[in-house]
Amino acid sequence: MKITNVVETMVWEVMESMLDQQPDMCRCDCCRADMAAYALNRLSPHYAATKKGEVLIKAGSLDRGMNVALLVALTEAMEIVKANPRHEKE
Ligand SMILES: [Zn+2]
Repeated sequence: MKITNVVETMVWEVMESMLDQQPDMCRCDCCRADMAAYALNRLSPHYAATKKGEVLIKAGSLDRGMNVALLVALTEAMEIVKANPRHEKE
């Protein structure tokens, strides 16, 4: 049985829609991974063992408060990655 961090799934989803509104933000894999890692380190994980559990967590405990925390973490992540993009050094 594979377990999923529902917050991780949501971070990737929300990041995609935020990137749509940030045309000057780099979208390379390196920057995306950095943004996701930064945001996930600031958020509490919510693990689900099944697809059903994942849906329940998304619909229930991850309410508006969680969404706000997610947006705040991702906004910070974008600012930091934008200021210090790591792709150029490699
Ligand atoms: Zn990049």
